[in-house]
Amino acid sequence: MLDHDVVIVGGGLAGCQAALEIVRTDPQLNIALVAKTHPIRSHSVAAQGGIAATLKNVDDQDDWKAHAFDTVKGSDYLADQDAVEILTKEAPDVVIDLEHLGVLFSRLPDGRIAQRAFGGHSHNRTCYAADKTGHAILHELYCNLLRCGVTIYEEWYVMRLILEDNRAKGIVMYRIQDGTLEVVRAKAVMFATGATVGSLTPPPMTLLLQGMV
Ligand SMILES: Cc1cc2nc3c(=O)[nH]c(=O)nc-3n(C[C@H](O)[C@H](O)[C@H](O)COP(=O)(O)OP(=O)(O)OC[C@H]3O[C@@H](n4cnc5c(N)ncnc54)[C@H](O)[C@@H]3O)c2cc1C
Repeated sequence: MLDHDVVIVGGGLAGCQAALEIVRTDPQLNIALVAKTHPIRSHSVAAQGGIAATLKNVDDQDDWKAHAFDTVKGSDYLADQDAVEILTKEAPDVVIDLEHLGVLFSRLPDGRIAQRAFGGHSHNRTCYAADKTGHAILHELYCNLLRCGVTIYEEWYVMRLILEDNRAKGIVMYRIQDGTLEVVRAKAVMFATGATVGSLTPPPMTLLLQGMV
């Protein structure tokens, strides 16, 4: 049986960013990231247009409230507005942090990060890396996970969440290459599986009791 403090299922932008935030918060934690693909082949690699943040490099009339309004409107008013507030207030720091991690954003002639118009945004606030923004960010996040010592299980398929008393205790996964089955015990399990979370099913209690854990 494998043992980690935190297991993150999913190696796209969400999973990689989560893993990096956790390891930077507490470098002592033993963190694992599991993905059924190689992480940099996750769907995130296809994102092209960019990432919105009110850096005001192009439009000094922009601010987080305008970004928040555009985001809520773009969600047909279904978005969690408290989450939108955090997202839009923190976006500029996140973009600067990504740059410091190594992401090569496209530039203005004066060297600052370029920003352009993008669907649904009322101001020019989209930061981008040519037409490969997801590719650029995902590669740097992945490199930084390696640098920080996060264990990465590439091409392992997570098939079960292990629950005890309704609390997550780990996962069951198999290596796609040869079908090797592993149980991973963890104090915390996080899902960042994009649109495919429905492929997971809760474990029958009998599986837990019959020695899988
Ligand atoms: C063509 C295109 C262009 C886009 N352009 C933009 C853009 O310009 N700006 C923008 O903000 N957004 C854009 N998006 C949307 C954006 O890319 C996605 O919303 C985002 O990347 C999703 O990230 P994620 O980490 O949640 O999911 P994903 O990148 O899909 O990652 C999911 C991860 O979960 C893993 N996984 C799933 N199930 C299992 C399992 N059972 N076991 C193990 N691993 C599992 C996968 O292997 C993968 O690593 C675009 C999307 C596309 C397709």
